[in-house]
Amino acid sequence: MTSTTQNALSTKIGRRSFLKMAAIAGAFGATSSFASENVTRPATAEEVKNPFPGSKEVKTICTACSVGCGITAEVQNGVWVRQEVAQDHPISLGGHCCKGADMIDMVRSEVRLKYPMVKEAGQWKRISWDTAYERISKKLNSLRETSGPDAVQFLGSAKMSSEQAYYFRKFAAFFGTNNTDHQARI
Ligand code: SF4
Repeated sequence: MTSTTQNALSTKIGRRSFLKMAAIAGAFGATSSFASENVTRPATAEEVKNPFPGSKEVKTICTACSVGCGITAEVQNGVWVRQEVAQDHPISLGGHCCKGADMIDMVRSEVRLKYPMVKEAGQWKRISWDTAYERISKKLNSLRETSGPDAVQFLGSAKMSSEQAYYFRKFAAFFGTNNTDHQARI
């Protein structure tokens, strides 16, 4: 780094913070060059061409909205390792938006909710789908009895298809309210 760049950076972020960052960067540099000598090596031509040997391509769709753009997922040993837009998808025709482009990270996220959970005594615990449905229906019935059906609003999703939106609307009507919103954005 040149002294001009250092001066510009230290003026912008403050001298003390800059010195701390420089010390950390120096330590990291030393560690990583040590690691690179012992652990890493250049990829072979075959590894560059095929970094996930034995993987297979699986056609899927983005679940973030009801357009359902096509995605080709590359899966290796049951793990989604890479994604591409599905060029041959009849709806999205080889395109998708930024949400679809990040679908792999949504699926593999460590904080992804995979099953129903409840918080009891300050602790989250897993419950079955049957238990979750039972608790939700009990709560809805109790709200309707104590405050009337209009105390509840049903909020849909842009992920819903036309048919799902129809059922969702019917469900609210049977519950006894017109308080619904599809939440459509597209
Ligand atoms: S428009 Fe975007 S969010 Fe909707 S399905 Fe396509 S990629 Fe996903």
